Amino acid sequence: MSNQESNQENSTLFARNPSNIMPHKLNLDSKLQFSCHPGVSCFTACCGNINIILTPYDILRIRRTLNLPADEFLLRFTTPVYLEKTDLPGVRLNLDEEGRCPFVTEEGCTIYEQRPTTCRYYPVGMSYFRESPEKKEDTAPAEEFYFLVKEDHCKGHEEDKVQTIREWRVDQGIDESDEMNKEWMELVMRRKSFGLQATLSEQAKRIFFMASTDLDKFRDMVFSESFLSSYELDDATQQKLREDDVELMRFAFRFLAATMFGIRDSSLKVREERLKEKMEQMKKERAEAEQRAEETYKELLKDHEDLKRDVEAKKSRTGAKQ
Ligand code: SF4
Ligand code: SF4
Repeated sequence: MSNQESNQENSTLFARNPSNIMPHKLNLDSKLQFSCHPGVSCFTACCGNINIILTPYDILRIRRTLNLPADEFLLRFTTPVYLEKTDLPGVRLNLDEEGRCPFVTEEGCTIYEQRPTTCRYYPVGMSYFRESPEKKEDTAPAEEFYFLVKEDHCKGHEEDKVQTIREWRVDQGIDESDEMNKEWMELVMRRKSFGLQATLSEQAKRIFFMASTDLDKFRDMVFSESFLSSYELDDATQQKLREDDVELMRFAFRFLAATMFGIRDSSLKVREERLKEKMEQMKKERAEAEQRAEETYKELLKDHEDLKRDVEAKKSRTGAKQ
């Protein structure tokens, strides 16, 4: 590995089976000879023995199609996992006892229009390169590239159809998925590039999980008294967040960016009085901590003096006996 490569963070997203990656970097104009349709002999062969991490937008789309509240969908169809190379929690799609996707039938995918982003990408994978934080401003955009996953069972590679990766993305509805998940993916990559040396509290991880997987609970949090007394949300914004799940999801990403990485956004203003209260509270806590430290120091000094007196008294008693 060259020195340059070792200074980069490589985040692979949307590769369902990374063990069969072809060793060529592709870009948007690279050609892809591939076609998948019900006529291929392997139809649905790829819908088993897979690892599908669901993005927030995947969860939203699929559960709305199934008409399920977020918690029920998560419980029935997913398992919590850590997102690749991070300590950020996410969810993986459960498979049935035979290792098959719960949405596959002989006729194909029963949620095809809402299928997960990973399924849309296959057999293309996407990765990002980001310079490590000490080498580059962490606001620098990550470099995006593609690769091909070629598995023996997949006969789509023997079809004649040729498209560029750019055309493939449009054809599969990937552009829309990626656009919806963009801010969330940025958060995951940012966390990856910071590495685990920057600690994230358990509370922060819980909020990340809730905001990225369960928008029903996140909405309850946003409309709680403590949230509304901390952040300025005008009436129009509140109405949108009450009625529009996609708006709420994007707000969740901005909230996470602000609370996890301090990336402030004009749509998420902390209330002045709350800021003042917080500053006062911090001042008070600091003054109390200083006072406690002073008292502890005085007690230590006193213990030391007592000990000194005891030793001297003992010495003089021993001297008197001799
Ligand atoms: S969601 Fe659809 S495309 Fe994806 S693995 Fe399941 S059945 Fe196949
Ligand atoms: S061609 Fe490839 S992607 Fe299509 S069904 Fe067969 S294995 Fe799956």
